[in-house]
Amino acid sequence: MSLIRQNLQAITATIVATAQESGRPPGTVQLLAVSKTFGPEAVLEAVAAGQRAFGENYLQEGVDKIHAVQAAGASGLEWHFIGPIQSNKTRPIAAHFDWVHTVEREKIAQRLSEQRPAGMAPLQICLQVNISGEASKSGVAPDEVAALAHKVAALPNLTLRGLMAIPEPAEHFDQQRAAFARLRTLYDQLRADGLALDTLSMGMSADLRAAIVEGATIVRVGSAIFGARNYHKA
Ligand SMILES: *Cc1c(COP(=O)(O)O)cnc(C)c1O
Repeated sequence: MSLIRQNLQAITATIVATAQESGRPPGTVQLLAVSKTFGPEAVLEAVAAGQRAFGENYLQEGVDKIHAVQAAGASGLEWHFIGPIQSNKTRPIAAHFDWVHTVEREKIAQRLSEQRPAGMAPLQICLQVNISGEASKSGVAPDEVAALAHKVAALPNLTLRGLMAIPEPAEHFDQQRAAFARLRTLYDQLRADGLALDTLSMGMSADLRAAIVEGATIVRVGSAIFGARNYHKA
């Protein structure tokens, strides 16, 4: 059995067990396989093992990979953009991806909505929130999330699905949980405020269990599936 298949099975088992321990139906947690720096052959191996949703951070690498994987005959996949967004790169993101997890400014959201090609389903959006304060430069500040969320929810070619965060790395389970709990609280407030959100994108290879306990609906897992990344090769 391939190593990627083996890793996918192990992570799926962890997701199911952790969801059950926290009283959640296992089907409520989706696995996003983060394939950045790995080639199309790694994605195809994961597809052969049943994986459908893939996350990419770097635009050109991601677009090239989407084309290569399609050319190899794989279909029905879902591509999520999870990297920082420069405003001059929104058009290819809007044209090639199904989801974007890293929206943190209204201007970027407006461009993605305007540039979403006619005939495609609305782009599915998460707002990236800075829940670690000064330790992180990315993400909208927690006290600005509600205003941004209402603006993004009103854009025609986007569907606002929820919130995403990358907390600063923490070693202990309780510290990991505390950061995810902050995102969860913001999410609950937005829902109470009338926004129809259903997605909490949080948890990576090192903190996936804490994220599930705190309500993650998408976990973004890279190295635990594909192995250690070599950035020089990418
Ligand atoms: C790289 C990356 C991941 C996956 O990280 P691992 O530690 O390899 O699981 C998840 N989310 C984002 C935004 C990333 O950039």
